[in-house]
Amino acid sequence: MVVLSALNPVGGNLFALKNIKLKMSDSKKSNLLDHVRIILVNTSDCRNIGSAARAMKTMGLSQLVLVDPVEMPNGQAQALAAGATDVLANAKVVNTLSEAIGDCGLVIGTSARSRTLPWPMLEPRGCGEKMVVEAREYPVALVFGRESSGLTNDELQLCHFHVQIPANPDYSSLNLAMAVQTLSYEVRTSYLLTLNDASQEHSTGNGTYIGKKSGKSELDKAIPSTISEDDELYPVTEESERFYQHFENALKATGFIGDKHPGLVMTKLRRLFNRARPDVKEIKMMRGILASVERAAKQ
Ligand code: SAH
Repeated sequence: MVVLSALNPVGGNLFALKNIKLKMSDSKKSNLLDHVRIILVNTSDCRNIGSAARAMKTMGLSQLVLVDPVEMPNGQAQALAAGATDVLANAKVVNTLSEAIGDCGLVIGTSARSRTLPWPMLEPRGCGEKMVVEAREYPVALVFGRESSGLTNDELQLCHFHVQIPANPDYSSLNLAMAVQTLSYEVRTSYLLTLNDASQEHSTGNGTYIGKKSGKSELDKAIPSTISEDDELYPVTEESERFYQHFENALKATGFIGDKHPGLVMTKLRRLFNRARPDVKEIKMMRGILASVERAAKQ
């Protein structure tokens, strides 16, 4: 992984100053939004990356990850980023989507197109709410596709949900940065509602996000968690991927999946488990079951 400012030390210096400004204006509330990651996959035109950075910063988001960009951000990207060159400079560059989402507990893919095998869908508003609720627990990601062809089915299937902006059905494909703007706005709207609730319910609340295990801020108390105190968290992508790999190995060992014709079994299982959203304990139990299946298949 590379941080862009490392490639561009001049930009990096410039951005340090702007960072301070950001901290002063938004610092008390920004920690939760720091868990919200915007991922752009294989973007062709780096001007869209600059515009996306600007869209993000206006909504208080700062975590930008570029997966294998066709064109690295250059002066044109910086010009379109305008006052958000710090977001651009701090962007991380990785080779694969898996790398970008490995530590995320919630990943939402964005696409104007419905798919032959529909994925669990969210409305933009529901997407914003879910991201803010779950950002308490772990990094959460919104994934955006290529300008020309969007996200592949395989990429979308690495996501828990598919969010579609309900645009004009006759012309539903937004410019990449405008899609980033629209969905970042939903995240911010949901976040601000939470802050309002926090300040109404707790007059002393300062809105600082502390995190689930480290004590409770007023904001923390105000955000409804999908996860109760006694429950386990949802697994992050790396753990889920190990589980799917284990599942596939076990189904190959029993002969349910043929090596030559794997079919859509794993894709359909992913969809099923995305709907069910097993937590960490349930995944552990499933892996125990799979291990027993593998043992039985060997006998
Ligand atoms: N021609 C592409 C669309 C590319 S638009 C296609 O057929 O998929 C670039 C990106 O912006 C998309 O990959 C998606 O991430 C986002 N986007 C554009 N319009 C969207 C919409 N209506 N809903 C959700 N995401 C959208």
